[in-house]
Amino acid sequence: SGGPDDMPQEIWDKVKNHPCYSEEAHHHYARMHVAVAPACNIQCNYCNRKYDCSNESRPGVVSQKLTPEQAVKKVVAVASEIPQMTVLGIAGPGDSLASPTKTFATFKMLQEQAPDIKLCLSTNGLALPELVDEICKYNIDHVTITINMVDPAVGEKIYPWIFWNHKRVTGYEAAKILHEQQMKGLEMLTARGVLTKINSVLIPGINDEHMIEVNKAVKARGAFLHNIMPLISEPEHGTYFGLNGQRGPTAQELKAVQDACMGGANLMRHCRQCRADAVGLLGEDRSKEFTLDKIEEME
Ligand code: SF4
Ligand code: SF4
Repeated sequence: SGGPDDMPQEIWDKVKNHPCYSEEAHHHYARMHVAVAPACNIQCNYCNRKYDCSNESRPGVVSQKLTPEQAVKKVVAVASEIPQMTVLGIAGPGDSLASPTKTFATFKMLQEQAPDIKLCLSTNGLALPELVDEICKYNIDHVTITINMVDPAVGEKIYPWIFWNHKRVTGYEAAKILHEQQMKGLEMLTARGVLTKINSVLIPGINDEHMIEVNKAVKARGAFLHNIMPLISEPEHGTYFGLNGQRGPTAQELKAVQDACMGGANLMRHCRQCRADAVGLLGEDRSKEFTLDKIEEME
């Protein structure tokens, strides 16, 4: 996605300094995450609960969990050290909207204390429709939804259960509810002018042939970008919850699926998966410089 020439001004204003939404911006601007959302409301078969949400992060790293107050302190400290830091995202380590009190408390304080920082969140979408109004209240211009299927028959191979209306729901029914919530949430965000990015985890033999359908469905509902990312399967991280022996795609398989989706929703290829407390330019991780003890030392 190029520049101001091929998009309306109000959209360009939202993407031009967001590193995850603009190929150009990712060379100049940085984002950071704060890990204030530990809980999750679904089970992905590829999730290894010992580590961060695989929505946005590579497995094998554990983020430092923060209270909203600690998170705000950290954002303010990082923003004064790294002026290119334009975006603050909440992406886990669980789901940002599963128990949203801390997520929204963090956004609220930031809006008051650092109004120039753009706010962003990433979610599996299950709780999204009910929270769209709240999201808009804090001027969150960018939302990422992880959508791995648009057919519950595919979905039931990826999601063994969801937690819904205080109960655990399993199988086809669970995947159907998740799918409906994801589509509804995406439509609602589009209607309100929030830019959306869809992340899809490519799982060979499970959703690879289905990905073109996902791409069409999200494009039809106004998704701004579609980011197809590989399942990361590394033996040292242990087997996944329900995908024992599942491999990730090869680089060629990933490219083939991405190429097949060209012409659908805009594909994003500069994306780097990032951990829930990432700090820095995409592909760079400066989180070690900004641990809580170091921030306290800076004061
Ligand atoms: Fe794990 Fe994220 Fe899936 Fe929740 S949404 S089960 S944290 S990968
Ligand atoms: Fe937002 Fe995801 Fe980028 Fe984080 S990695 S700033 S949550 S789009």
